[in-house]
Order: sequence, then C-alpha cells, then structure tokens
Amino acid sequence: MDGSLKNIRSQTETELKGFLKEHGHPEFRYKQISHWLWQKSVKDFRAMKNLGAKLIELLEAHWFIDGIKENTRQISEDGTVKFRFELYDGAMIESVLIPVAEKKRFTVCVSSQVGCSLNCSFCATGKMKRMRNLSPGEIVDQVFEVNKACLEIYDAPLTNIVYMGMGEPLLNYKNVSSSIDIISSPEGLHMSSKRITISTAGIAKMIKKLADDHVKCNLALSLHASTEDKRSEIMPINDQNDLSSLMEALQYYYQKTKNRISYEYIAFDGFNDGIEDAMALEKLCKKFPVRINIIEYNPVMGVSFEKAPVDRIDAFAKYLVERGIMVTVRRSRGKDIDAACGQLANKA
Ligand code: SF4
Repeated sequence: MDGSLKNIRSQTETELKGFLKEHGHPEFRYKQISHWLWQKSVKDFRAMKNLGAKLIELLEAHWFIDGIKENTRQISEDGTVKFRFELYDGAMIESVLIPVAEKKRFTVCVSSQVGCSLNCSFCATGKMKRMRNLSPGEIVDQVFEVNKACLEIYDAPLTNIVYMGMGEPLLNYKNVSSSIDIISSPEGLHMSSKRITISTAGIAKMIKKLADDHVKCNLALSLHASTEDKRSEIMPINDQNDLSSLMEALQYYYQKTKNRISYEYIAFDGFNDGIEDAMALEKLCKKFPVRINIIEYNPVMGVSFEKAPVDRIDAFAKYLVERGIMVTVRRSRGKDIDAACGQLANKA
C-alpha cells in the first residue's frame, strides 16, 4: 500500500466534507460514500457504484479503506463464538458473540486496542503488551462481521454491544467514541445507543469526559475489588485512579447523564468473595444507582486465582440483594474456547 494514503474511515464528517468541497464535489457525495463505507462495509472504492469514475479515482489517490478479515472462528459447547480477526497490518484481535437465545439477547464483546497496557493480574490480554489503538473502522467492522455471523448462525441480529474485549476503551477515547457514533447513527449501522456499553478498568478523567461529551452509551466499571488495597493488588491502574477518585467521577457521570452505572465484579475464591467484601461493596453503591454483575472467574494460564465456589457467590449476592442492590450473577460463557471474560489473548 502507498504509504502516503490516509485511512478514509478515520476521517471525521467535517474533514471528509471539506475534502470533497476542496476538490469540487457536491456535499451529497458524503452520504453516498458513508453508505458504502459503513452500511455496505465495502473495502474497495471501485465497488462504490454510484460515485462516478472521476470521484473514485480521486478517492483512490488519497485514501485507503482499512478492514478486518476473519482468521479463525471457534464455537463453544454453550453456543458462544470467538472470532479472531486479522487487521490490515497483520495484527490480530478477538471479538466474542455471546448468545442468550431464550432471551433473544445476542451480545458482541468488541476489542478496542491490540493488547492492553493495564496489566490487570487476572487477565490474559494484560499479559500481551499494548501494540496500538484500533481505528473506528476496525471497531465498527467487528460489530458488522459478528452481526453477519449472528444472522447466519442464530437467524437473529445482534442486540447488544459491549466494549469489553481486548484493551481499555477509554485509553482509545477518540476512536471508541467515533465508533459509537457510527454504530448508532442512521448513516452507519443504526443500532440503538441504549444497547451499547463501555466497560472500563477506571480512568477517572475520561469518565468525566464521557459525561461532558454526552457520548451515547452505558457505562460499566470493572471494579473486581471493593477496597483500595485489594483493588491495587489486582489492578495496577488503581494506583493512579483510586476508588475515591473513581467514585467521584462516577457520581459526576451520573449527575450529568442519569444513566445507571454497572459494576463488573469477578469473584475470586478467598480474595474478594467474603461477606466483608460485600459490606465494603455496599458502601460503593450509595451515591448513585448501581447494578452489580458478579462474574464467574475463568482460569488464565500463569494466574494463581481460582474460581469462587457457587455457594460463596450466592451468599455474596444475597447479602447485596437483601440491601436493595440490583445484582446479576453471570455464569461463565465460552470458557472451553478461552472466550470468557479475561481470557482473550489471540490463543488458538
Ligand atoms: S481486564 Fe481489561 S483493562 Fe485489564 S488488562 Fe485485561 S483488557 Fe486490559
């Protein structure tokens, strides 16, 4: 590929409209180009049939279209599907389709970076170094491709999108928020923003920015421990973004958006699954409405944590429910194919 070409799917609407104007093309061409790029997901300007030869040549002379290619697909015995996608530069990422057919809920868990820099001790992705951010197009393509697969396999479209795959979405803020715009806009994939959730390890400043920028999505915090010491032990990011700064940021987010916040809480045997942990967690549920998702832990090679026993998880959940807190216990999905929470690491 000619190194001087720029990625057309990383351009903003204003930039692309400006480019068309500068080269004497009418503004309606922007809509046509967007339609081909996002709704049809074409990867070759020559497939954009209604643009005319002159405009196609102009686009080819200035831009390239990045894209992802399915490399491997693994299907779990519980119906979860893990996809590995190859990016235009050869890097690999993973996305997971999690079907709950009886509830007609089909969720895709998308990646936002190649690898991750945050090094959470229980996570396989954290063991890979962060190589780069994904472009908006590479994020949207995961939704497009997995939606296609969902229609083929389950005869139903995706209903939910969660940014909880490889990488920390708020450290790729600009591209993640543009991808949300494209996924939810009528010119893009036209999916409801109410069904989109960003799950963050907790970057206080960026949580406030999400609220200030009115990014249309739900927010989940990967909490996983309810005291400063325990959280810092498993999530190094807690040293710069401690629980008190996160609580302040979340309160700010709630005041601005009025969106209920979710806490993701992986239960580790003997580490964070005791009643004293539930009591500490209860204190973090007082300032704004919260839903807690307790997640079964899945073994990751080289990590010494074990899965919490079901009776301890149930007692933990019961303590919180009895105090009026919304709690869901999520049984692990796709663990036989390393597709469960914390297991994504480009491993076949
Ligand atoms: S849990 Fe999320 S933030 Fe932590 S290392 Fe894994 S991918 Fe990164």
